[in-house]
Amino acid sequence: VLLAVMAGMYAVYHGPEGLQGIARRTHRYAAILAAGLTAGGVELTQGAFFDTLTARVPGKADAVVAAAREAGVNLYRVDADHVSMSCDETTGRAQLTAVWGAFGVTADIEALDAATEDTLPSALLRSDAYMTHPVFHAHRSETSMLRYLRKLADRDYALDRGMIPLGSCTMKLNATTEMESVTWPEFGQMHPFAPVDQAQGYVTLITELEERLAEVTGYDKVSIQPNAGSQGELAGLLAVRAYHRANGDEQRTVCLIPSSAHGTNAASAVMAGMKVVVVKTADDGEVDVADLRAKIEQYRDELSVLMITYPSTHGVFEEHVADICAEVHDAGGQVYVDGANLNALVGLAKPGHFGGDVSHLNLHKTFCIPHGGGGPGVGPVGVRAHLAPYLPNHPLQPTAGPETGVGPISAAPWGSAGILPISWSYVRLMGGEGLKRATQVAVLAANYIAKRLEPHFPVLYTGPAGLVAHECIVDLRPLSKATGVTVDDIAKRLIDYGFHAPTMSFPVAGTLMIEPTESEDLAELDRFCDTMIAIRAEIEKVAGGEWPADDNPLRNAPHTAAALGGEWNHAYTRDEAVFPAGVSAADKYWPPVRRIDGAFGDRNLVCSCPPLDEYDN
Ligand SMILES: *Cc1c(COP(=O)(O)O)cnc(C)c1O
Repeated sequence: VLLAVMAGMYAVYHGPEGLQGIARRTHRYAAILAAGLTAGGVELTQGAFFDTLTARVPGKADAVVAAAREAGVNLYRVDADHVSMSCDETTGRAQLTAVWGAFGVTADIEALDAATEDTLPSALLRSDAYMTHPVFHAHRSETSMLRYLRKLADRDYALDRGMIPLGSCTMKLNATTEMESVTWPEFGQMHPFAPVDQAQGYVTLITELEERLAEVTGYDKVSIQPNAGSQGELAGLLAVRAYHRANGDEQRTVCLIPSSAHGTNAASAVMAGMKVVVVKTADDGEVDVADLRAKIEQYRDELSVLMITYPSTHGVFEEHVADICAEVHDAGGQVYVDGANLNALVGLAKPGHFGGDVSHLNLHKTFCIPHGGGGPGVGPVGVRAHLAPYLPNHPLQPTAGPETGVGPISAAPWGSAGILPISWSYVRLMGGEGLKRATQVAVLAANYIAKRLEPHFPVLYTGPAGLVAHECIVDLRPLSKATGVTVDDIAKRLIDYGFHAPTMSFPVAGTLMIEPTESEDLAELDRFCDTMIAIRAEIEKVAGGEWPADDNPLRNAPHTAAALGGEWNHAYTRDEAVFPAGVSAADKYWPPVRRIDGAFGDRNLVCSCPPLDEYDN
């Protein structure tokens, strides 16, 4: 979503005229470049063009590319006889002169500018209006743009406001120190296909990060190419498939997945051409070992891989994980350990050592890259040596993966390399001891919350010692049944108290999954627990009949500032609505919208844009 926001704001700032101006200027430079080359006797083969030209230079492509590079411009060598080049809004006169020089052409740019027409084919020019929404016309000064961004940010509940206890998401601090370098031109302006000898800093950073991630996970080799955890899953499963094929085991296509797994696991397995067989969950939330054994036996000859999440999606360290891995290996299968929950393991245990053959990690969870709304992400895949030949590679960049690899999993050779400095900085700043301590504090924080909440809300799953891993699931189903107060009511009420809701109804319907991470200090953990306990007391008032079941602060949460205006016809006061225990008026977070019936809202989209007929001019 960060990348979508950046692109969207680019459009908001420039508007339709601005974007057209940028495009016209880009084309103008390409047209003048073309005119100079043609006048200098260079043959162009691309026909009509916008920003990209292709020149035919029989036998001389390498020499031209080398000469241009000498002058500070990268051209694209199509083959021994052809060179291609693009202009964009950053192209300037000096670059045109440099490119002409590389082709052995001298041209007078002023004269060409005066003599050259734009060559955009008129039949392709757009004539309809576009970007007609007022927001694309309102902000043309930096001040106005700044205020618009601020206004949007104020409506958001982000980590700079308070805890986002979303279980399975690891919403930890994205430190400014870690993030800052992403804006440096040395990182931000590197082209993904720049010649490797110009990207040695990046190569060093990528190599160091891959090596450190290999050390953290206990695997032999790591590829940072996948752009998401789910893409890492696909890459890992493709490696497993290629490995079985190389051993003549074409028929090994069954992927065993516990029913508690993250939804991406099954989707990735299907994309990798596998057949998904679901393994049951036992009453204690762990993988049902008897069912797993039966399935291993049933599919012994077709078993490709078991995908397990560790610690499990129920937030518990399963004690028999090593035995499970051994049994799968005995049957000729591989073990995929979904490592998205690595925040509970870093520095304490290594999936590559307790039985995993392959894992993905989520750098946008455990390693501090910001995320939300679906990215941006990096989902490195780590493998043991026997799978290393089947990691992703890239046809245009031989150094980006093994020659025997399965091909590219994302368009760029090193995926979302631009955000790797964040994770690299995190690992460097923390050091080995720091990373381990972060894990310990994250696990401690989750257990602190579990213990403080336990008397008020039962914790659904714990390990044998009564402890959870880095997150805990509180079970609201008995309460909901007894009082009618639902998981939605509690999640929305948390907003009135100034919290983002935890994960709702995943992986168990009617529950909340809470993950505090190591980033929240004791004061914030206590603020959260005190709030949950205060909400529990509110539920009591509903149960006791003090507040009606259909008109109470929980059912009507969250309360906006607008909701306070006008007449107040509720069974509770305005103060009870927006300033419940512990909420100060000065620090109040005001939600911008009231509750939308989730399922109804999803199916009945309402457009808050101006009506369509206003676009008509
Ligand atoms: C987040 C998560 C994933 C998927 O990662 P994406 O980057 O969202 O694709 C997979 N498995 C588990 C256990 C996760 O928590």
